[in-house]
Amino acid sequence: MQINVSCPICGKHPETIVHALWSCYNIKGLRSACDFLMNIKVAKNMQFLDIMILCISIMRTEEFELLCMMLWRVWFCHNGMIHDSKLFDVSEVMPWATSYIVEFKRANTMDVREAGKWHKQLWKWCPPIADKFKMNTYAAIQSEVGRVGVWIIIRDSTGNVLASSAQNIKAEFSPTIAVAVALLRGL
Ligand SMILES: [Zn+2]
Repeated sequence: MQINVSCPICGKHPETIVHALWSCYNIKGLRSACDFLMNIKVAKNMQFLDIMILCISIMRTEEFELLCMMLWRVWFCHNGMIHDSKLFDVSEVMPWATSYIVEFKRANTMDVREAGKWHKQLWKWCPPIADKFKMNTYAAIQSEVGRVGVWIIIRDSTGNVLASSAQNIKAEFSPTIAVAVALLRGL
Protein backbone atom coordinates (compact mmCIF):
# COMPACT_ATOMS: atom_id res chain seq x y z
CA MET A 1 0.00 0.00 0.00
CA GLN A 2 1.34 3.41 -0.93
CA ILE A 3 0.86 6.28 1.49
CA ASN A 4 0.95 9.84 0.29
CA VAL A 5 3.16 11.78 2.70
CA SER A 6 3.03 15.05 0.78
CA CYS A 7 1.75 18.20 2.44
CA PRO A 8 -1.98 18.46 1.57
CA ILE A 9 -1.72 22.23 1.31
CA CYS A 10 1.19 22.82 -1.06
CA GLY A 11 1.70 19.24 -2.28
CA LYS A 12 5.40 19.99 -2.75
CA HIS A 13 7.09 18.79 0.42
CA PRO A 14 6.77 15.89 2.89
CA GLU A 15 4.29 16.71 5.64
CA THR A 16 6.62 16.91 8.64
CA ILE A 17 5.68 18.84 11.78
CA VAL A 18 8.21 21.54 10.90
CA HIS A 19 6.75 21.84 7.43
CA ALA A 20 3.10 21.88 8.54
CA LEU A 21 3.65 24.37 11.36
CA TRP A 22 6.54 26.48 10.12
CA SER A 23 7.72 26.13 6.54
CA CYS A 24 4.67 25.64 4.34
CA TYR A 25 4.01 28.65 2.14
CA ASN A 26 0.79 29.79 3.84
CA ILE A 27 2.45 29.63 7.27
CA LYS A 28 5.30 31.75 5.90
CA GLY A 29 2.71 34.40 5.06
CA LEU A 30 1.34 34.23 8.57
CA ARG A 31 4.80 34.47 10.12
CA SER A 32 5.78 37.46 8.03
CA ALA A 33 2.80 39.33 9.50
CA CYS A 34 4.18 38.86 13.02
CA ASP A 35 6.89 41.35 14.01
CA PHE A 36 8.01 39.16 16.90
CA LEU A 37 8.93 36.35 14.48
CA MET A 38 11.22 38.53 12.33
CA ASN A 39 14.34 37.70 14.34
CA ILE A 40 13.77 33.95 14.46
CA LYS A 41 16.28 32.37 12.11
CA VAL A 42 15.56 28.69 11.64
CA ALA A 43 18.30 26.47 10.25
CA LYS A 44 17.37 23.75 7.77
CA ASN A 45 18.02 20.78 10.02
CA MET A 46 16.20 22.12 13.09
CA GLN A 47 13.49 19.99 14.66
CA PHE A 48 10.23 21.53 15.82
CA LEU A 49 11.28 21.39 19.48
CA ASP A 50 14.52 23.23 18.61
CA ILE A 51 12.45 25.99 16.99
CA MET A 52 10.26 26.30 20.06
CA ILE A 53 13.29 26.47 22.36
CA LEU A 54 14.80 29.16 20.16
CA CYS A 55 11.54 31.12 20.20
CA ILE A 56 11.08 30.94 23.96
CA SER A 57 14.66 32.08 24.52
CA ILE A 58 14.17 35.20 22.38
CA MET A 59 10.52 36.22 22.73
CA ARG A 60 8.65 37.92 25.50
CA THR A 61 6.18 35.67 27.36
CA GLU A 62 3.08 37.16 25.74
CA GLU A 63 4.62 36.78 22.28
CA PHE A 64 5.40 33.13 22.91
CA GLU A 65 1.86 32.58 24.21
CA LEU A 66 0.46 34.05 21.02
CA LEU A 67 2.76 31.91 18.89
CA CYS A 68 1.64 28.73 20.71
CA MET A 69 -2.02 29.59 20.19
CA MET A 70 -1.40 30.38 16.52
CA LEU A 71 0.35 27.06 15.98
CA TRP A 72 -2.46 25.23 17.75
CA ARG A 73 -4.96 26.90 15.43
CA VAL A 74 -2.85 26.15 12.36
CA TRP A 75 -2.77 22.47 13.35
CA PHE A 76 -6.56 22.48 13.91
CA CYS A 77 -7.20 24.11 10.50
CA HIS A 78 -4.75 21.73 8.88
CA ASN A 79 -6.68 18.73 10.26
CA GLY A 80 -10.00 20.32 9.29
CA MET A 81 -8.78 20.51 5.73
CA ILE A 82 -7.64 16.89 5.67
CA HIS A 83 -10.57 15.28 7.49
CA ASP A 84 -13.51 17.58 6.75
CA SER A 85 -12.35 19.25 3.49
CA LYS A 86 -12.70 22.63 5.20
CA LEU A 87 -10.92 25.59 3.65
CA PHE A 88 -7.75 26.52 5.53
CA ASP A 89 -8.11 30.28 5.93
CA VAL A 90 -4.77 31.42 7.30
CA SER A 91 -6.04 34.99 7.76
CA GLU A 92 -8.28 33.89 10.64
CA VAL A 93 -5.43 32.31 12.64
CA MET A 94 -4.03 35.47 14.24
CA PRO A 95 -7.42 37.03 15.24
CA TRP A 96 -8.58 33.66 16.61
CA ALA A 97 -5.40 33.17 18.66
CA THR A 98 -5.52 36.73 20.01
CA SER A 99 -9.15 36.51 21.08
CA TYR A 100 -8.62 33.06 22.63
CA ILE A 101 -5.85 34.42 24.86
CA VAL A 102 -7.97 37.42 25.85
CA GLU A 103 -10.91 35.14 26.75
CA PHE A 104 -8.64 32.69 28.58
CA LYS A 105 -7.12 35.45 30.72
CA ARG A 106 -10.52 36.96 31.34
CA ALA A 107 -11.94 33.59 32.43
CA ASN A 108 -9.08 33.16 34.88
CA THR A 109 -9.65 36.50 36.54
CA MET A 110 -13.47 36.59 36.81
CA ASP A 111 -15.52 35.50 39.80
CA VAL A 112 -17.63 32.32 39.77
CA ARG A 113 -20.99 33.99 39.06
CA GLU A 114 -19.64 36.00 36.15
CA ALA A 115 -17.86 32.87 34.83
CA GLY A 116 -21.16 30.95 34.80
CA LYS A 117 -22.89 33.61 32.66
CA TRP A 118 -19.95 33.80 30.30
CA HIS A 119 -19.77 30.02 29.98
CA LYS A 120 -23.46 29.86 29.00
CA GLN A 121 -23.00 32.51 26.31
CA LEU A 122 -19.85 30.98 24.88
CA TRP A 123 -20.79 27.29 24.93
CA LYS A 124 -24.16 27.29 23.25
CA TRP A 125 -25.02 23.82 22.01
CA CYS A 126 -24.84 23.47 18.22
CA PRO A 127 -26.67 20.66 16.42
CA PRO A 128 -24.73 18.24 14.21
CA ILE A 129 -25.17 18.38 10.43
CA ALA A 130 -28.05 16.42 8.84
CA ASP A 131 -27.84 12.61 9.12
CA LYS A 132 -25.24 12.84 11.88
CA PHE A 133 -25.62 12.49 15.63
CA LYS A 134 -23.92 14.40 18.40
CA MET A 135 -23.08 12.94 21.77
CA ASN A 136 -22.42 15.19 24.78
CA THR A 137 -21.13 13.83 28.04
CA TYR A 138 -20.39 15.12 31.50
CA ALA A 139 -18.64 13.52 34.44
CA ALA A 140 -18.46 14.55 38.09
CA ILE A 141 -16.31 13.03 40.79
CA GLN A 142 -17.42 12.60 44.40
CA SER A 143 -14.05 11.58 45.80
CA GLU A 144 -15.21 11.68 49.45
CA VAL A 145 -17.66 8.79 48.81
CA GLY A 146 -15.68 7.07 46.03
CA ARG A 147 -18.29 7.54 43.32
CA VAL A 148 -18.33 9.02 39.82
CA GLY A 149 -21.41 10.33 38.04
CA VAL A 150 -21.60 10.27 34.24
CA TRP A 151 -24.25 11.84 32.05
CA ILE A 152 -24.68 11.07 28.37
CA ILE A 153 -27.03 12.55 25.80
CA ILE A 154 -27.22 11.88 22.05
CA ARG A 155 -29.16 14.22 19.77
CA ASP A 156 -29.81 14.52 16.05
CA SER A 157 -29.54 17.55 13.76
CA THR A 158 -32.97 18.84 14.85
CA GLY A 159 -32.08 18.59 18.52
CA ASN A 160 -34.25 15.53 19.20
CA VAL A 161 -32.92 13.38 22.01
CA LEU A 162 -32.26 9.86 20.71
CA ALA A 163 -30.73 8.43 23.87
CA SER A 164 -29.69 9.61 27.28
CA SER A 165 -28.27 8.08 30.41
CA ALA A 166 -27.24 9.12 33.91
CA GLN A 167 -25.09 6.66 35.80
CA ASN A 168 -23.53 6.60 39.23
CA ILE A 169 -20.46 4.40 39.35
CA LYS A 170 -18.56 3.19 42.39
CA ALA A 171 -15.04 4.15 41.36
CA GLU A 172 -12.16 6.46 42.12
CA PHE A 173 -11.22 7.85 38.72
CA SER A 174 -9.03 10.82 37.92
CA PRO A 175 -10.89 13.62 36.03
CA THR A 176 -9.39 12.49 32.70
CA ILE A 177 -10.42 8.87 33.22
CA ALA A 178 -13.91 9.92 34.35
CA VAL A 179 -14.41 11.90 31.13
CA ALA A 180 -13.05 8.98 29.07
CA VAL A 181 -15.42 6.54 30.81
CA ALA A 182 -18.38 8.84 30.07
CA LEU A 183 -17.40 8.92 26.40
CA LEU A 184 -16.88 5.16 26.28
CA ARG A 185 -20.26 4.42 27.88
CA GLY A 186 -21.92 6.80 25.46
CA LEU A 187 -20.42 4.96 22.52
ZN1 LIG B 1 3.08 22.51 2.44
